[in-house]
Amino acid sequence: MVCPSCGQAHPIRSWDWKQQGGFARLLVQVEEIFPGEAVPTDGLFDLLERASGCAWRHFYVQD
Ligand SMILES: [Zn+2]
Repeated sequence: MVCPSCGQAHPIRSWDWKQQGGFARLLVQVEEIFPGEAVPTDGLFDLLERASGCAWRHFYVQD
């Protein structure tokens, strides 16, 4: 992925989105939550990891 500001190219996984954006092949979208208003619990992450077999993280998107 190429940064539109400085033109540097790095693998998308190496970018630090500061939880203000992200990308996913599989996601669970929860709407009507402002950034930082709610945080997924460890229990939810554990459940998702057991069901999918991969680690999960979260990020916020504000339209
Ligand atoms: Zn840049």
